[in-house]
Amino acid sequence: MTAADLAATTGIEVPTGLLIGGEWTKGGAGVIGVTDPATEEIIAEVADATAEDSLEAVAAAHAALPGWAATPPRQRAECLRRAWALMTERSEAIARLMVLENGKALPDARAEAVYAAEFFRWYAEEAVRMEGSLVTAPAGGYRIMVQHQPVGVSVLITPWNFPAAMATRKIGPALAAGCTVVLKPAKETPLTALAVAGILSEAGVPDGVVNVVTTSSASRFSGAVLADPRVRKLSFTGSTEVGRVLLKAAADQVINCSMELGGNAPFLIFEDADIKAALDGAFLAKMRNGGEACTAANRFYVHEAVADEFTAAFAARLGALKVGPGLDQGTELGPLVNEDTRSKVASLVDEAAAAGGRVLTGGAVPDRRGYFYSPTVLDNVPPGAGILNEEIFGPVAPIVRFSSDEEAISWANDTEYGLVSYVYSRDLRRALRVSEALEAGMVGINRGVVSDPAAPFGGVKQSGIGREGGHDGMLEFTESKYIAVDW
Ligand code: NAP
Repeated sequence: MTAADLAATTGIEVPTGLLIGGEWTKGGAGVIGVTDPATEEIIAEVADATAEDSLEAVAAAHAALPGWAATPPRQRAECLRRAWALMTERSEAIARLMVLENGKALPDARAEAVYAAEFFRWYAEEAVRMEGSLVTAPAGGYRIMVQHQPVGVSVLITPWNFPAAMATRKIGPALAAGCTVVLKPAKETPLTALAVAGILSEAGVPDGVVNVVTTSSASRFSGAVLADPRVRKLSFTGSTEVGRVLLKAAADQVINCSMELGGNAPFLIFEDADIKAALDGAFLAKMRNGGEACTAANRFYVHEAVADEFTAAFAARLGALKVGPGLDQGTELGPLVNEDTRSKVASLVDEAAAAGGRVLTGGAVPDRRGYFYSPTVLDNVPPGAGILNEEIFGPVAPIVRFSSDEEAISWANDTEYGLVSYVYSRDLRRALRVSEALEAGMVGINRGVVSDPAAPFGGVKQSGIGREGGHDGMLEFTESKYIAVDW
């Protein structure tokens, strides 16, 4: 596909260079091809940065830091507000671009484009509300004054599954707090991040405040930037495995880290649940983004009294989905992002079936071009099966039956992850008691989606450190300064 074809198909012209200090430049390591997962064809080439390019981006962010940190919050807010308006105006084009590089179906991409822009509006509103505190010291005699200052140059590393929202969820609060950034998007989906960066420049964000580095070697990038003492913050979203590597790498310069890592969300349906509502919620929690979400329901625990009813209806719903290229009319489920992801999904299903799980629908790789996998429901999966311990990251729903609240809670907590859990029950007292017992940073009660720019998103255990979204998300890009005042 030529650049002109890409612009005609999406409705947006996307820069393909590195953005360093306000200039779009070539990468010293050549170019990286971007593949459409529905056709397996290259749709664009973007710059491939060397370690030196990455350090130039850090230098540009460092040079821009004093000016941006000193810019009045209202002015920073106006830049973010304009970026929200521009992104909203162009949301259809951004959605189409995401479909092409990520594979997701257009309705999912449209929802993400709106959600992603919303982080700019929310943080435009938060930028002017950076509160500190002032109290009298307990012993009297002086005051304890606390203010929040920008942490400094921030490195942002994002995954491919939400190419727009994972970028804006970091850039929005960083800029609101007065930090400058170097963003490294995933190599599968660099185009959306580059388009967002173009919008920020157009919105009046000064040169050097937002820098974008695309690279074929993530470790070359992180090796260089995390060893640089000018970098004071790492905000990472991705797998727990890579998160562990980056935490170790950040230790040498004692870099402040926020980590949004993997999930293994349990979805609990009690016998008193509204089953129709649970079906709708389960569908959203499982199939939003084709199952490629850290918040995706990964394991369904259904009370044995309602399991037959739920399972049959859920299998019928998933089995009826229209699968195809994301831009085709009526497509509800697109391909997975790449061959590795698809083969992992296929082998998890095969293992679960061999362990005794019953495939009610799907369970196969369709005979067509692109990295497709059929929507799959597996019933009666044994509680110890491997598929319940790993993040599936695909359109696959394993169902386990339980007989008591305690059993459901203990199985739900039997994982190293703790991002989100879902609970369906008509009894709010029970739902709240279960929510308190669940080891998760977030719980959806009678809701299949929890993500909201105004809410603190994040996990416990090995699902992460810190929160994104809400006021907490902006505080992640600050450090508290305590001033003892005697007056
Ligand atoms: P990933 O493999 O961990 O990659 C995430 C990002 O890290 C990509 O930009 C990747 O670059 C980069 N990376 C990989 N190795 C690196 C290294 N050694 N140094 C520096 N950067 C490195 O994850 P993914 O497959 O893209 O995304 C899926 C994962 O993200 C899932 O586990 C999902 O649960 C998690 N996720 C979590 C949240 C949350 O908020 N908790 C949200 C969305 C996704 P390359 O692309 O170049 O490899």
